[in-house]
Amino acid sequence: MRAEIICIGSELLLGDIADTNTQYVARRLSALGIDLFYSTAVGDNLGRLVDCLRRGFERSDLILTSGGLGPTEDDLTREGIAALVGETPAVDESLAKALRQFFAARRIEMTANNLKQAWLIPSATAIRNVRGTAPGWWVRKGGKQIIAMPGPPGELHTMWEGEVEARLGDGLSVIRSRTLKLFNISESRVDELLKTLTSAANPSVGIYAKQDGIHVRITAKADCVRSAQQAIEPVEVEVRRIIGDSVWGTDDDTQEATAAALVAASGLTLAIGEGITCGQVASLIGGVSGSDSWSPWGDCPLRGWAERDAVGLASRVCREYHADLGLAVCGWPVVDADDGYG
Ligand code: AMP
Ligand code: MG
Repeated sequence: MRAEIICIGSELLLGDIADTNTQYVARRLSALGIDLFYSTAVGDNLGRLVDCLRRGFERSDLILTSGGLGPTEDDLTREGIAALVGETPAVDESLAKALRQFFAARRIEMTANNLKQAWLIPSATAIRNVRGTAPGWWVRKGGKQIIAMPGPPGELHTMWEGEVEARLGDGLSVIRSRTLKLFNISESRVDELLKTLTSAANPSVGIYAKQDGIHVRITAKADCVRSAQQAIEPVEVEVRRIIGDSVWGTDDDTQEATAAALVAASGLTLAIGEGITCGQVASLIGGVSGSDSWSPWGDCPLRGWAERDAVGLASRVCREYHADLGLAVCGWPVVDADDGYG
């Protein structure tokens, strides 16, 4: 099944909000084994919305939309879908009744434009929204499906988990991934070393440069979770055989938790001196659970921009805090591309 996501809302194109709904839906589709081929953001404009829907309808089997289901004039998702399939929306009496009850229970006056949220077209069934007033639409037409969900992430997540996913997931394959996180090695070097693996399709191996180093993600598609994991295993063994020395963590591991665990396991104590980062490193590592067991740690008062000797500062905090290990961050203001942390 080929799927695509269309997120509707001018606020997305103005950069006012981050499109977290796409990330959420993309992850859930991937876990279900549904291929996601396109993702689009479009503003609150009927013509452009219908264009996007039409293109999606031609090239995909399943379109998932987010946003534009509110009561206001600029919420146009229902109008757009109705125009695409050539049907006229009409108020559905049972939805209208539920809507009136929703407002009455909260002693809020229901305005006329709210009635738009009780619309249906013949090809659509309503999807229950337990967290808001806008039901979703599940449209089936010409062998294709459109699932329209509300924009607020809490409403979309609840609708997806409670009403949508189970009806999509039946009998489909699953996708599982394993991420190995690397340090002290460049993306190009990893690419070179893993060439034979990255050219394979299933499991596929992808290389990504992230803030905490290079990630190698192994992804398998199979008919059940166990088979997917079994397919990943030998590839992970092979990746570790080639670049295992550079692996510092997997999946959700963070650098600070990994560092804290290493220090805790060694039974040593760590002191942190920060000449430029104003305690940020200490608060990262200090925030990790269990870090108090290897205290003391502390940060050194910022001494202007002059502190450039990281080794000197590390030794000094070691002495001052009677610690076994000293970690120091020093630097100076970035002036051009060649300047930076020392
Ligand atoms: P709407 O359903 O268009 O009325 O959207 C209502 C609100 O949901 C917006 O104002 C945003 O705060 C939020 N929202 C809409 N689309 C997204 C999205 N793609 N990702 C995250 N939040 C969103
Ligand atoms: Mg909107």
